[in-house]
Amino acid sequence: MSNVRHIVSLSGGKDSTALAIYLRDRIEGLEYVFSDTDKELPETYEYLEILEAFLGRPIIRLKADRGFDHWLQVYGGYLPSSRMRWCTKVLKIKPFEKYIGDDDVRMYVGIRADENRGGYRPTKPNIVPVYPFIEAGYTLHDVHRILAESGIGFPSYYSWRTRSGCYFCFYQRKNEWVGLKENHPKLFEESKKYEKFNEETGERYTWSERESLEELEQPDRVRQIKEKAVKLTVSGRPADKKLLLTVLDDEDEGDDLPCSFCHI
Ligand code: SF4
Repeated sequence: MSNVRHIVSLSGGKDSTALAIYLRDRIEGLEYVFSDTDKELPETYEYLEILEAFLGRPIIRLKADRGFDHWLQVYGGYLPSSRMRWCTKVLKIKPFEKYIGDDDVRMYVGIRADENRGGYRPTKPNIVPVYPFIEAGYTLHDVHRILAESGIGFPSYYSWRTRSGCYFCFYQRKNEWVGLKENHPKLFEESKKYEKFNEETGERYTWSERESLEELEQPDRVRQIKEKAVKLTVSGRPADKKLLLTVLDDEDEGDDLPCSFCHI
């Protein structure tokens, strides 16, 4: 028997969840893991529990030895950004690579055939990424179908946010920050606490480019952001809830594509 381990890394998002369902009966001994930053949305934790019940197998929760606040200090108070994404490395990738050690691993990644983004680039040679949806030519339509047929549907945060990940993730678009404020006011307040302004140097440490959350939450600004957001509806389950997907607005165009480890 081969000693290769087969692992799906879950992010709490729709694509990795659909992949876990797709592979459940195709690969024997498949392991499901989730790297928990301790800063995830409550909806993500709920969704993982639903998925775990469906799979009938445990989802291994991995955590870094030291959490986000420790690493923020180590990185001199610099909030992570698309240019300096230390958070993914220390909170997601390192715990995963520690978990697998030196074992030979096939890591299944839920990037779809209709996406144009790079995969996970392992830092260890014993990890080989595999892209079953790309191999099968599966697109967003197939992800919708898999989630609908399983009865699991989409994570409930999809009604106001398009991606999995930490509640304060800098990849959020302006109107997703508004969504955080409306859906999780306490988490929005927690996010605000991380932002800093150095009066001596004039340096600002903000999650969202060009404005602080305090500026973003002003009623006029919220109205402006909402007016700019273009909303598309797609159907999802459970309860045939309408989901909102939000199209990029001008202010968000500078963002790099989000990482495949956190947001699949
Ligand atoms: S979800 Fe966002 S903030 Fe959290 S680890 Fe990933 S990139 Fe960083």
